Amino acid sequence: MQETDILIIGGGVTGTAIARELSRYDVDVILVEKEADVASETSKANSGIIHAGYNADPEKLKGRLNVRGNELFDQVAKELNVPFKRIGSLVVAEKKEEIKILKELKKKGEENGLSNLEIVQGERLDELEPNINQDIIAALYAPTAGIICPYELTIAQAENAAKNGVEVLLETEVLDIKVKTDYKLVKTNQGKIKTGYVINAAGVYADKIAQMVGIDEFEITPRRGEYYLFDKEKGSEVNHVIFQVPTKVSKGILVTPTVDGNLLIGPNAEVIDKKDDVATTSNGLNEVINGAQKTLSDLSLRGVITEFAGLRAAEVESGDFIIEASKQVEDFINVAGIQSPGLSCAPAIGEFVVGLLEKEGLELKDKKYFDPYRQEPIRFRELTHQERAELIAEDDRYGQVICRCETVTEGEIVDAIHRPITAKTLGAIKRRTRAGMGRCQGGFCSPRVAEIISRELEIPMTEITKEGSGFEILCEPAKQSLQAEVVDYE
Ligand SMILES: Cc1cc2nc3c(=O)[nH]c(=O)nc-3n(C[C@H](O)[C@H](O)[C@H](O)COP(=O)(O)OP(=O)(O)OC[C@H]3O[C@@H](n4cnc5c(N)ncnc54)[C@H](O)[C@@H]3O)c2cc1C
Repeated sequence: MQETDILIIGGGVTGTAIARELSRYDVDVILVEKEADVASETSKANSGIIHAGYNADPEKLKGRLNVRGNELFDQVAKELNVPFKRIGSLVVAEKKEEIKILKELKKKGEENGLSNLEIVQGERLDELEPNINQDIIAALYAPTAGIICPYELTIAQAENAAKNGVEVLLETEVLDIKVKTDYKLVKTNQGKIKTGYVINAAGVYADKIAQMVGIDEFEITPRRGEYYLFDKEKGSEVNHVIFQVPTKVSKGILVTPTVDGNLLIGPNAEVIDKKDDVATTSNGLNEVINGAQKTLSDLSLRGVITEFAGLRAAEVESGDFIIEASKQVEDFINVAGIQSPGLSCAPAIGEFVVGLLEKEGLELKDKKYFDPYRQEPIRFRELTHQERAELIAEDDRYGQVICRCETVTEGEIVDAIHRPITAKTLGAIKRRTRAGMGRCQGGFCSPRVAEIISRELEIPMTEITKEGSGFEILCEPAKQSLQAEVVDYE
C-alpha cells in the first residue's frame, strides 16, 4: 500500500496546478488520474482563453482568482515554456442597448481591479479588428486577455510537478474513500493509498468523490460546449478573442485565433445528463456557426478541420467555485464547480489551496531543490533551416518527418514519450507534439506514431490505444485475422 501526506484526485489543469504549487514544499504528494493521460477531460476541450477578469462578480471567488490568475500567467508560461500570447479581447455590441452591458462589464472589471478596460468605437475598433461585421458598433477592449493551449499548460504543470517530486499515477481511478481517525484510506483500481489530506479536483465528478466521504452539499451539472476548429489558413481572420455580449449561462459564441495559429469558434451551452457525453451534435454546431457569423458574416464551414465538445462543471446553486476545507470531514478539501474561468484561475487556485492546507494545520517548509522551470520541448517546425540542420546532425531522428501536416519529427515523438509524464497513447502524443492535429487529423501519421510508441515502450502494437484502455487501435495482427478468415471459409 502506498502512503502519502496529500492525495490530489484529478489530473486536469486544476489538480496539476495544485500539484505544482505543492511541489515547492517538503511534503509527499500523489496525484491520481483515472485516464491514461493528464488533461483528458475538460482541460483539453475548452476555448483556451486567459480571461482578463471583468466577467465574474467581484464578490465571487472566481472574480478574485481570475484577476490574480491572469497576473500570474506571464511568469507561469515563461517558467513552464508554454506558448502564451496576450492578444487582448473584445466584447462586441451590435445594438445600442448592448452598449449598456459593455459599460456594466467594464464597471465589474474595475471593481475586480482592472484599470485598462476601454470601450472602443469607430476608427479605433476598425483598426483593432478590420474584418468584423460592419453592424458591430462598439466593443469592450481588454488588453490583458490572452490565449494558451490548455492541455499543453496542464501537461507542463504535471511534468514540472513530477520533476519536483510529485508522483503522478495515471489510469488510477478512485473508487472509494474510507475516513479513519487520523488518515483516509483511498481505494483505487490499482490498490489502496493511505493519505493525510485529500484534495478533490475531479472536475465534473467532484460531487461523486465528495459523496464517497458523505459530503452531499453540492451537485455538479455538466454543461456541454461545442466547437469548430479551422485550418491555420483562417487563423489570421481576427486579431483578438472576440466575444458577443454574455448571457446568464455563457459568454456567448467566441471567435478567436488559437495560440497555434488556427481559428476556433464556439462554444454553445447545453445542460446534459451524462458526465461523459462529449458528442458533438448538428444542432449545437449550427448554433456555433450561426453565432460566429454574427461576428464574421463571411465565415463558412470551408476550412474546418475538426469539431469537439467539452463539459463545464457547473455548480448551479452558487454559480461559484467551491474551494474549501470541508466542515464535515477533516482534512478533505473540495476544489469543485471549476467551470469557466477555471483555466485562467488555475495558478491562483494552486496558491489558494496551499493557503487552505496551511490553515488546516499542514506545515509547509520550502524544498531545497525546487526547480520552477520545465525543459522546453523542441518544436522542429519553428526552427530556422540552420537550426534544423544542426539538430539533424546531432540526432538523425529529427530528420524523419512523421506528421507531414504539422511537420512533427520522430525525434519530437521520442522525446514526448520519455518526458516525466510518459506519453503512451496516440492522443497523448498528439497533445504534446501536434502529430495528428493538422488537416488530415492523423490519417497518415497515426500508424507510424503507434509503431514508435510500441518500439520505445516495448509494448505490442495491439496494446497501443488512442486514449487508454478500451480505445485500442488494432484488434489483432493482420496475418492472424486473415488466417481466421481462411479457416472460416474452409
Ligand atoms: C466549453 C468550455 C469552454 C471553456 N473555456 C474556458 C476559457 O476559455 N478560459 C477559462 O479560463 N476557462 C474555460 N473553461 C473552464 C475550464 O476549461 C475548466 O475550468 C478547467 O478545465 C477545469 O479543470 P479541472 O482540472 O477542474 O477539471 P478536468 O479537466 O475535468 O479534470 C478533472 C480530472 O479528474 C479526473 N477524475 C475524475 N474522477 C476521477 C476519479 N474517480 N479518480 C481519478 N481521477 C478522476 C478526470 O479524469 C479529469 O481528468 C471552459 C470550459 C468549457 C467546458
